Amino acid sequence: MPLTLTAVPCLRDNYAYLLHDPETGRTAVVDVPDVAPIHDALDAAGWALSDILITHHHDDHIGGVMRLREDTGATIWGAKADAHRLPPLDHALVQGDTVTIGAQAGRVIDVPGHTIGHIAFHFAESQMAFTADSLMALGCGRLFEGTPAQMWSSLSKLMALPDDTLICSGHDYSKGNAAFALSVDPDNAALHARISAMEADRLAGRPMAVVPLALEKATNPFLRAHLPAMKAAHDRLHASDAESFAHLRHLKDTF
Ligand code: ZN
Ligand code: FE
Repeated sequence: MPLTLTAVPCLRDNYAYLLHDPETGRTAVVDVPDVAPIHDALDAAGWALSDILITHHHDDHIGGVMRLREDTGATIWGAKADAHRLPPLDHALVQGDTVTIGAQAGRVIDVPGHTIGHIAFHFAESQMAFTADSLMALGCGRLFEGTPAQMWSSLSKLMALPDDTLICSGHDYSKGNAAFALSVDPDNAALHARISAMEADRLAGRPMAVVPLALEKATNPFLRAHLPAMKAAHDRLHASDAESFAHLRHLKDTF
């Protein structure tokens, strides 16, 4: 039975995610920007928190971890490479490790770029991946610590997941990301259709940061950096995929 997913809006535009295993009752949260909204969501569902999964060290993803740990006694999972700048970890993770939420297993994927120790979690049976500030809805995280080549390699790993994987990312930057995407990929019909649908999603209160991978691949300009049409449109027909990505990321940084 797949995990039950609940997106919890936090702070200004962050998302935390609750993952509940209906078989065992175990419940995890991915990232803890803030404590109160997560308690509220747990109470509303009648779930007790058992596990805290951390994607990366930025304060808007870990700011509430210690309080939530004190309140619930939940087990903390995070990247071994970042153990020195994360709350104390019960499980220090490396690429390929498995996290278990009751009967459900998630695989750890190293996705450096936004930060060096950034990890993602892929729950294959539930067809969900938690990518925080690596692959984001219609965008990708800014490169604070890694190189464009590292981020391109990280995005390539995520692109290789099954197309029906639900990508759950760390922020709703959809408005700004849509404007940028249109500026670099103006003839993309799927992109226009997605942006038209986004307004209805927003009005219906659907979380903007939860998107099937197939739709990201069709519309997210950073996942299209390797396509000859994208390279040609930016005078980079003979550039490497990573160079084409670097160019798009630079355009976004100055957009
Ligand atoms: Zn971040
Ligand atoms: Fe963030």
